[in-house]
Parts: sequence; C-alpha cells; structure tokens
Amino acid sequence: MSLSRTYCVTLLGVQGHIVEVEVHLGGGDPGVTLVGLPDAALREARDRIRAAVANSSESWPSGQITISLSPASLPKSGSLFDLAIAGAVLSAAGEVPVDRLADSVLIAELGLDGRARPVRGVLPAIVSAAEQGFKRFVVAAGNAAEARLVPDVEVTAVADLAQLCDWLRGAEVPRPPDQEPDPAAAAPTDRGPDLADVLGQPVARRAVEIAAAGGHNLMMLGPPGTGKSLLAERLPTVLPALSPAEALEATAIHSVAGLLPPGAPLVTVPPFAAPHHTSSRASIIGGGHGNPQPGWVSKAHHGILFVDEAPQFGRGVLDSLREPLERGEVVIARASSTVAFPARFQLVMAANPCPCAKPGNLCTCPAGERRRYFSRLSGPLLDRIDLKVELQPVARAELLADRAFAESSETVAARVAQARDRARERLEHTPWNTNAAIPGARLRRDFPVEQAALRVLGRAMDRGQISARGVDRALRVAWTLADLAGRDRPGEEDTAYAYALWSGRAW
Ligand SMILES: [Zn+2]
Repeated sequence: MSLSRTYCVTLLGVQGHIVEVEVHLGGGDPGVTLVGLPDAALREARDRIRAAVANSSESWPSGQITISLSPASLPKSGSLFDLAIAGAVLSAAGEVPVDRLADSVLIAELGLDGRARPVRGVLPAIVSAAEQGFKRFVVAAGNAAEARLVPDVEVTAVADLAQLCDWLRGAEVPRPPDQEPDPAAAAPTDRGPDLADVLGQPVARRAVEIAAAGGHNLMMLGPPGTGKSLLAERLPTVLPALSPAEALEATAIHSVAGLLPPGAPLVTVPPFAAPHHTSSRASIIGGGHGNPQPGWVSKAHHGILFVDEAPQFGRGVLDSLREPLERGEVVIARASSTVAFPARFQLVMAANPCPCAKPGNLCTCPAGERRRYFSRLSGPLLDRIDLKVELQPVARAELLADRAFAESSETVAARVAQARDRARERLEHTPWNTNAAIPGARLRRDFPVEQAALRVLGRAMDRGQISARGVDRALRVAWTLADLAGRDRPGEEDTAYAYALWSGRAW
C-alpha cells in the first residue's frame, strides 16, 4: 500500500477541528515533503518522528514521502500530530495495517526515543472530535485519565510508538491501573484553607458568605494584614462544587493552559485565579503565539478572579475586565482566525485605603494622591461590584475572643447551598441560576419587592446617594439575604443591609 490516512485534531482556543493526516509513498529520491504545515514546530516533527520510528525497531520507508495535513487553511501548531503522522507513514509503507488507523484520532507528541508524550488540550480535542462523530482515540499514557473524562468514546493509551504499532497489528494495549489521585487535589477542603482561619472580621466574613450565596462581585478595602487575601482565597471553600458540565468546561481551559495535575485531572472545585498587579493585558485576556492561550479571566471560568491591590494594576488592564464581565467570554482576534474563550467568573477586588497603605491615623498621603490612587478603579468596573466592605486592623485580644465565633467553611457552605437552592427554585424557568445574574429590568418586573422594603432605597435615591443601577445591585443582594435567612422575599432589614453593603457602610 502506498497511501494511508488517519486523523488528528488542531485546537483554536478550546475548540477542536479535525485534521486529516494523509501519507503518500512514491518512488524516486528519498525525501519528505510536508503539505499544509505552516508552523515551524511542525517541520521539526519530521526529524523527531523519523528518530522515534528508528528507535522503535520499525523501519523508515525509503523513497519519496508526502505528508499532507488538511484542511490546509486551519492554523496548526505544536507537536500533537506526531503520533498520527508516524502511524500513517508506517501504514503507507505496509509495516502496519491501516484498518484501525482509518477511523481513529491519534493525539500525542513523540520523543526521539519513541516515547509517547502527553500534550495540552486533550480533553477539548476529544470532546470536539466526538461531536463530529469520532469514537476511537489514541493518546499518550500520561493523557489517559484526562481523555477518559469524555463519555462514550473508546480511549487507547499508549506508552510509546511500539505500543501503537502492536495495537495497529491487532493486539490490545493493557490498560494501566489508574494513577493514584493526588490526595491534596482530591480533598481540597481537608485541612486546606478554611474560613475559620480568618479571625476578627465578622462583616467581611459575612460578605464572603453573601457573595458565595448570590454569585455577587465583592470589593474589600483595608490596610495590609487585615485578611483580604485570606478571605478571597477561602471563597471557593464555601461555593458549591461545579456541576458536571461546568467541571468539563473548566477542565478544558485548564487542559489547554497545561494546568491539570496528573491522575486527578477533573476540575471539580471552583477555580481561584489571582493575577499579579504587574500582569499584562494579554496575560489577563489571553493570546500569545501558536494556539492562543487562555488568560487569567478564563482560568477563573466558573470560579473566582481575585484582583488584589487593584489600583496598582495598569488602567488598560483593569478596563479589559469589562468585556468578560459583560459577555462571559473573551474574543481574541487573529489575522487568520478568531478565538473565543469562556470567561464567566466572580470578581473579587481588594485595595489598600491609600498608596502608603498605613492605618488611618498614620497615613501621610496627600488628599490628591489618595484620589488619584482610587481614580484608577474606573467607574464602569466599580459599577459591577455588589458588595463593598472595609476591613479594620484588629487588636490581638479581639482576635482571640473571636475564635469561638469563627465558623468553619463547612458550616458556611451548607448555608450557601441552601440559599442557592432557594434561588434556583425561584429562577427555575429563567436562563439564570444566581441572583447576581438577573438583568435589572427582569428583576424589577418578575420579582417585585414590597413597597415598605423599597423605602430605604427610594430615600437614598432621592438624596442622590444611589443610582438606578445601584438600586438594582442592592435589590439582588437583598434577595440573597432573604435566601440566606429562609425568607420568601426581602423585607426592610434585607434592603437596608443590602444598601449598606452596596455603599460600603456595613457595620
Ligand atoms: Zn496613606
């Protein structure tokens, strides 16, 4: 046989596209021609695959080899085509039968020694190929656990090229025992961070609970050492675990970003992403060479984006959060293609009260400097914050006294889960499942609140202390407070406290 064909997948963001790998063996001078491979990394594939074949006791065919990857128009990058190309070359040479190759998708890099190496993005690649009707997949053993997360497909995991050849010749590859999951990754709440670790900040702890229950964006203001980061890091410990669909979406992004731990690849806990204030716009939004990489906003998908020391971020960097906050995704435009990454996250911002970051009475910052510092937080971004709390330094004695009252994440998570159940029930026939997600107009029309409860917000509006949009934000929080308290609808105390939380005056 001189023509052979198999399949691979190329990724654009988290969307996979089928690539047909065709190898033609002709007479004439020995040589290799690659068609449809614009990426330099793929040219290196030729030498790598050749070495892998030689080191697997297989023979590299003589004569003219033409390798074509189509469609040619698809951007292709990386080394995930190695296994498919090697299989097709050996099959075109008659070294291995074509039967199993012809309807399989092969995704792995090859080492010079013939070892099959895991690659990024296997989960989204298989999900996309399965949607296009492919059922049979071959991956590197190191990608086996991730590949097997996809339901209703047959996954063969090979350690090396020799094992692929055995399989193509009809042998079954023994399935290695599943890797022991990393115990730390499997039970993240076990002796991990816990809300009970944060002492002396009852209002902020309560705000974290409310944020979790309603999906609200949160801003924490306070001098260093008051627990802002500790609280933010503990938000995932009180949030409900991801649904199976959310888990797959989050895992796909972490797979493309190369962040999955081996053995227990499924992301089941809401991710926590905390970019440094020196982060570039591209690292926040995503991009880069080759297959665009997800940015921080996508690594936070279905979880938390924690923007610590928010005023220290570049202005353009903070503004770039507006698009994902509005649309739940980011779109990265390229010359040849456009890539969309999901980016639906809960925003938690933290800031020191002023540039010098000293407690109130020791602060020496001129008023103008304090204003400039906060003006970096643009109005449209602050507009998306439902809850603002101020944290004060706490005396040691108070901390010790608070120990008895600091609830564990488990206790708080149980209340959060109940509140979320209530909200989900109320929102059953709507596209939303948290209070924070309901558009203002629908909130007012479909979920009216009694006049008495609205009075405090009306008065604040008359005095110009809150905008119409602010009222909507406070109302969403009021619904969450009612859900947490087990009330059917918000009462006066809920709207009053929601207003205090919205305005940053809750004490
Ligand atoms: Zn200061």
